Amino acid sequence: MNGTRVLSVASEIFPLIKTGGLADVAGALPGALAAENISVRTLVPGYPAITHALDHASAVYDFPDLFGGRARLLAAQARGLDLFVLDAPHLYDRPGNPYLDPNGKDWADNAFRYAALAKVAAELARGLLDVYRPAILHLHDWQAGLAPVYLHFAEGPRPRTVMTIHNLAYQGQFSADLLPKLGLPAQAYGVDGIEYYGTISYLKGGLQFADRITTVSPTYADEICTPEFGMGLDGLLRRRLSSLCGILNGIDEAEWNPASDPHLAGHYGRNNPDGRVLNRFELQQRLGLDLDPDAMLLGVVSRLTWQKGLDMLQAALPPLMGQGFQLALLGAGDQQLESGFSELVRRHPGRIAAVIGYDEGLAHLIQAGCDALVVPSRFEPCGLTQLYALRYGAVPVVARVGGLADTVIDANEMALANGSATGLQFAPVTTERLSGALRRARILHRDKSAWKTLQSNGMATDVSWRRPARRYASLYRDATAQR
Ligand code: ADP
Repeated sequence: MNGTRVLSVASEIFPLIKTGGLADVAGALPGALAAENISVRTLVPGYPAITHALDHASAVYDFPDLFGGRARLLAAQARGLDLFVLDAPHLYDRPGNPYLDPNGKDWADNAFRYAALAKVAAELARGLLDVYRPAILHLHDWQAGLAPVYLHFAEGPRPRTVMTIHNLAYQGQFSADLLPKLGLPAQAYGVDGIEYYGTISYLKGGLQFADRITTVSPTYADEICTPEFGMGLDGLLRRRLSSLCGILNGIDEAEWNPASDPHLAGHYGRNNPDGRVLNRFELQQRLGLDLDPDAMLLGVVSRLTWQKGLDMLQAALPPLMGQGFQLALLGAGDQQLESGFSELVRRHPGRIAAVIGYDEGLAHLIQAGCDALVVPSRFEPCGLTQLYALRYGAVPVVARVGGLADTVIDANEMALANGSATGLQFAPVTTERLSGALRRARILHRDKSAWKTLQSNGMATDVSWRRPARRYASLYRDATAQR
């Protein structure tokens, strides 16, 4: 099958290397797009986690000097993914987190590490390899952001470009002094170029020069055009509104399937949801919570950062503890949030449990065992945990922002009456409104049949990659048709 060729460029890709949702999307989209007759190859940096995982690799191009060292382009496959790997040991041969040094600081040469990725992407897109010419160059996040800039200042034909924002909070900002070393002309540094408040912003460059811009939910696409959520780029995004759209992420339905998930104590599905009880029991037992069958067991699986709004949950819970709530939390991040939850555990033994750390298996069990999954984010480009919750029959209680607003149908009077509700939303995002949503959830939870309907509706929601893949396919078609 020789469909439309897309070169995707990503700084991480599941299952080879992952720090967040970007890796999930970069890893899952090629497979989903194959069903749309689109063939995707992904250009990734040659970190050890990637070069050591390659099944077949052949060197297809040599760069004698790529930002201070020799590099090779490998055509390779790994775990079913078709890859181009930028094998540049002086830039990428470092174990661990792709962006941070062993002290947890950004690598000092990140500007060059990701300029190299973008430059090679642009060269590939312009036909560096005679045998490979993509119709679309799809760039993910700031790490790939300079590719449309290099293309803009180059001569000759080029493919159409799509820039996807997974989180506008990360922009790739560097000192303006670097400009000459990046191989870009002086005129690239301007308000209409990559200049950003006296610095260089790689993401801004991508947003300025890509033919199309996407982000990972329609509501986030609207929000980032406002000063409140636009992180200083809302003006640019408003100017580019006709080229901007939001396409929701999907989830990996094989990895997240309650009928076969190896991390669960009991398997279940929409037609036999009672299997959840075993997981609820297992979760309570494992985390030292009272084995209370009537409790309303809340779950949280999250990075602990300001974005995720969990300080509001810390404030909302204590006054509600007389109403039969329990909490099972898994997360890691800011010290203050971590110690806040540890303190709550001390004050409410048997009712609040917090596991500080990263635990894939426990994340699955929480989704399968909790009654309601709480996601009080201040902003959320798409969010994955509420999608897992829908599939696992945990009713999501979410802030009405970004992808959370787009994927959960609030149990308001109308939605309850017509049977469409899948969870609860609250807005504005404050402790008071979160408390209100939790109280509302508690009332619904006591009504067994209403709660079952919510769960069942959630489990019937299509959270697969099928629909998003169709949207990307149609975006690529539009972009290539456009002259
Ligand atoms: P973000 O990308 O902003 O962190 P998402 O909801 O899009 O938020 O994705 C978070 C992903 O990371 C989900 O797959 C979630 O299950 C996982 N996750 C977050 N924290 C933990 C943790 N402490 N242990 C295991 N998995 C976690």
